[in-house]
Amino acid sequence: MYLIFRCDCGRTMYSKEGIAHKKCVCGKNLKVKERRILAKAENHETASKMVRKFQEEKYGGLQFTTADKI
Ligand SMILES: [Zn+2]
Repeated sequence: MYLIFRCDCGRTMYSKEGIAHKKCVCGKNLKVKERRILAKAENHETASKMVRKFQEEKYGGLQFTTADKI
């Protein structure tokens, strides 16, 4: 089982259940047990899809400049 959760920086990520710490790309070392779990997934493919979905939900309503326009 994989757990999906969010860092304080807003990034959604997943980790395998039972793993105590997960380092975010922002540099913060998260204690998985202390995070609010957004969702669970059976495997890492599903987990990564769900992470993408959560990221889209977070940014969905806002106009962001995409990388190809910079
Ligand atoms: Zn972070």
